[in-house]
Amino acid sequence: MDALVALCKRRGFLFQSSEIYGGLNGFWDYGPLGVELKRNIREAWWYDNVTSHNELVVPPGAPSAFQMVGIDSTIIMHPQVWKCSGHYDLFHDYMVDCRETKKRYRYDQVQGRWVEYNGQRIFVATEAVGEEAVADVEHKALRFFNLRTKEADRLVWHSPLVSLTTVEDFSQVLAPDAKTLGTLTPPREFNLMFKTYVGALSGEENVAFLRPETAQGIFVNFKNVLDSTRVKIPFGIAQMGKSFRNEITPRYFTFRSREFEQMEIEFFCRPETSRAWYEYWRQRRFNWYISLGLASERLRLRDHSPDELSHYSCGTADVEYAFPFLAPGDFGELEGIAHRGDFDLRSHMEGKLIRKGNELVLELGPDGQPKYRGSGKDLTYFDEETRERFIPHVIEPSAGADRAALAFLCEAYAEDMVPDEKGVPTKRVVLRLHPRLAPIKVAVFPLVKKDGMPEIAQRIYADLKPHFNCFYDEKGAVGRRYRRQDEIGTPYCITVDSQTLQDDTVTVRDRDTLRQWRIKVDDCVEVIRGLIRGTYTVPG
Ligand code: ATP
Repeated sequence: MDALVALCKRRGFLFQSSEIYGGLNGFWDYGPLGVELKRNIREAWWYDNVTSHNELVVPPGAPSAFQMVGIDSTIIMHPQVWKCSGHYDLFHDYMVDCRETKKRYRYDQVQGRWVEYNGQRIFVATEAVGEEAVADVEHKALRFFNLRTKEADRLVWHSPLVSLTTVEDFSQVLAPDAKTLGTLTPPREFNLMFKTYVGALSGEENVAFLRPETAQGIFVNFKNVLDSTRVKIPFGIAQMGKSFRNEITPRYFTFRSREFEQMEIEFFCRPETSRAWYEYWRQRRFNWYISLGLASERLRLRDHSPDELSHYSCGTADVEYAFPFLAPGDFGELEGIAHRGDFDLRSHMEGKLIRKGNELVLELGPDGQPKYRGSGKDLTYFDEETRERFIPHVIEPSAGADRAALAFLCEAYAEDMVPDEKGVPTKRVVLRLHPRLAPIKVAVFPLVKKDGMPEIAQRIYADLKPHFNCFYDEKGAVGRRYRRQDEIGTPYCITVDSQTLQDDTVTVRDRDTLRQWRIKVDDCVEVIRGLIRGTYTVPG
């Protein structure tokens, strides 16, 4: 992971936000290559789900044909949106503060072990995970009891690593960075929405929130989309864009950021078909990551257990990836696919709902009136064919573009041995990114900077440029130029050499197989296009 982080900075994939001022925790900037990678992920998602979707045919595994459209709503919306959606009351994590170090931790992310020495039993806490956590806890316990490493066997361990949430009394807890016991405050709720003020006045009536998800922008536009297009159920509305969460402990590079980008679909269907659509989207979204190169053994589709489900959800599955920064056996969420029933449309019609037994009912305030009123607008759907009116059920595949980018980078990073120009095996760093995602699709090199080779290479470059993001390089040994492209994931390199001058052919080199073969100069655009789409077969 450290090697990948270093590569991301060195080659311009990712930078810490405002780095020259020391950075801002939880915020990341994409550099010249990173922005291309992320755009390619977003474009692949939009193309695969919206623009290339053919509503006239039934896709494999789908219950029927369906339509897909997109929207782009604002980041700041009417505050009532978040009151009715539940985010205003419920979108929080629990935090604990350390009175000694003034550090803040997410309650459920602190773990530790009970340990005893000389009759004193304490809980030593850490923010680390896996084996690192075990080592960290031991180190802290030794330091607290003033013992040397070789005296470690005098510590008596009373528990494996357990969550701080299992500890009732914090008086014997040694906080992750503290020197004394009992410095943690009791857990407190912390709303994750960023607050801001609209207009010149900063009174409570002007408070607004930066959206913590793009989904609500889709629900509140449901009627607009119905009224302005000819979509018929079943159909999906897609949206991607920035979301903001004031995460208590942003970490793992971009995995948990405070500003990030989501790619979400709300799929509206008849209630009785919703289970089948949920199964369809669950599988389809999982397959998408595999089609773009995530290895199936590091990817899994995990169904939530009933106690993990949100208050509205009748079924949720997560697409998860075994990120290298997690403890062995742990997975991190890339995307959630949720069956949300009619919760969202009803909430925006009627007001904030709560679950009572199996029913969703309007939550009432102390005065017996609805706690948060809905829009009062009719968000039902009228089916012309069956002459029925109903509230559609919703399936929501909700993905994060930054987590996807991180997973694709982690999966792509490799170090291998390849022969140099003299045939001597040398170490190379390579990003085996899927050609659709690679920031640069093809690099063009003249073998040497003479004999008219640069001119031919520049002509090829000019031909390719309108079609693909490509790169021209004439400096240094050609082997070094290949390595520089391998390191940033460029799948193909085209080289102009002395044979080009005789027969108008160039070599194409494949990053992964290292195969080289010759093609006609005039065929470069078509060959590269075919290679990226997977429709071109390498000869021989
Ligand atoms: P987590 O449990 O990891 O906080 P979540 O379940 O709250 O995630 P959702 O609300 O389902 O996440 O959001 C949908 C997707 O948005 C996630 O699968 C993830 O890809 C992305 N996402 C959510 N929070 C963040 C974040 N803080 N940084 C980057 N991406 C995020």
